[in-house]
Amino acid sequence: MVTAALRPSEVLVDETAIYDNVQHALTRLPKHTELFAVVKADGYGHGLLRTARVAQAAGATGFCVAVLDEALALRQAQFTEPILVLGIIEPAYAGIAAANHIAVPVGDRDWLTAASVVLTAAGTLPKLAVHFAIDSGMGRIGFRDAATLASAAEQIADSDQYTLEGVFTHFATADSPDDAYFKEQVAKFNDCLAALPTRPRYVHVSNSATSLWHAACHGNMIRYGVAMYGLNPSGRAIPTTPYELEPALSVVSRLSFTKLLHAGDAVSYGATYHASGDEWIGTVPMGYADGWLRRLQGFHVLIEGQACEIVGRVCMDQFMVRMPEPFAVGTKVTLVGRSGAAAITLQDVADYADTIHYEIACNLTARLPRRSV
Ligand code: PLP
Repeated sequence: MVTAALRPSEVLVDETAIYDNVQHALTRLPKHTELFAVVKADGYGHGLLRTARVAQAAGATGFCVAVLDEALALRQAQFTEPILVLGIIEPAYAGIAAANHIAVPVGDRDWLTAASVVLTAAGTLPKLAVHFAIDSGMGRIGFRDAATLASAAEQIADSDQYTLEGVFTHFATADSPDDAYFKEQVAKFNDCLAALPTRPRYVHVSNSATSLWHAACHGNMIRYGVAMYGLNPSGRAIPTTPYELEPALSVVSRLSFTKLLHAGDAVSYGATYHASGDEWIGTVPMGYADGWLRRLQGFHVLIEGQACEIVGRVCMDQFMVRMPEPFAVGTKVTLVGRSGAAAITLQDVADYADTIHYEIACNLTARLPRRSV
C-alpha cells in the first residue's frame, strides 16, 4: 500500500509515552523478571521498528511478534535480542527461524516431527529454540495435557535440532474482574509445568492484563503488549491500573474542503444525511481505506476543541463533519487525541464502533504515515 505522505492525515506516536509505560511496568516486576515487548501487527499500529527501538531503550530485553516475517524484519533492522513468534509457524520455515535465532511456539509433537525433517534437509543450523505452548483454557494453540507435554520434552531432549527455551500459556480472562476462570487456567498451567523434567530459561504467562492485575504470577518474563501503547487491556471493565497508562497514539488530519449547506441538502453516499438548516460542512481527507470505519458515521472529531459530528456515510478516502462555525480549509482535525480541553480516546472510538481499541489501532492502514512526536 502506498503511504500518503502528501496528504495531511497522519498517525502521531508519542515515543515518551511508550518509554514511560515500559518503565512503569519494569519497576513493578520482581528482580530477574524480564519484559518482552509485544510489537506484532506493526506495533499494534504504532510502527514495528519505532516501538521496538523505544521499548529496547526503556529496558525491554526481548520481543514477541505474531508471525515469522515480523521477526525477520526485526533481525534485518539489527535487533539482536531474543525474539519469540507467538503463532504456530509452518514446519517448512523452521530452518529460517533457526538460522535467524528466532524462537517459535510448539503445541504438539507432530510439529516437532515435521520440522525435524525440514531441519535435517537444511543441514547445519543453530538449534531451533522452541517454547512449549500450553493450552490451559484459551483454546487456541498448545498442549492440553501434562502427559503429551512430558513426551514432547523427551522428544526434544533426545534431539540435537531443538532447544527448549521456554514454556508459556495465555489467559483468556486476565482482563476480567471475575478471576474464577483465570485461576483454573493457572492451576492447569502449573500441573503441566510440573510435568517438565527441568524448567526452561523462560516461563511466561503474563500479557498486559496479567501483569497489571495478577502480579503474583509473572513467571520470569512478561509479554507486554497493549499497555505499552498506553491502553487499558480491559477497555473499561477494570478502570483502575496500578500506574497511569499514557496513550501513545493520536490521529490527525486537516480540513480539505468546506461549504455552507442549506436545509434539505444531502451529504455523502446514499444521501442518508440532510442539513436541517444552514450548516457548515467540512471534508476530512481520510476514510475507511485508512481504517476510519464506515460505522463511525454519527461519531465526532475535534476541531479547535469542539466536537463536530461525522455526517453522512464515511467514504473510502474522505468523510464530512458538521462544524459549529466556518473553520478554514487547512484547519487541524483531531480524530484521536487532544484538542484544546477536549479529547477523543481510542476507547471512545471503539465504544462507538462496538469493538475494542486493539482493533481500531490495528486497523489504521499503512496509507497513513506514522510520525514520532
Ligand atoms: N501473549 C500472547 C500469546 C498474545 O497473543 C498477546 C496478544 O494478543 C500478548 C501476549 C499481548 O497481549 P496484550 O496486548 O493484551 O498485552
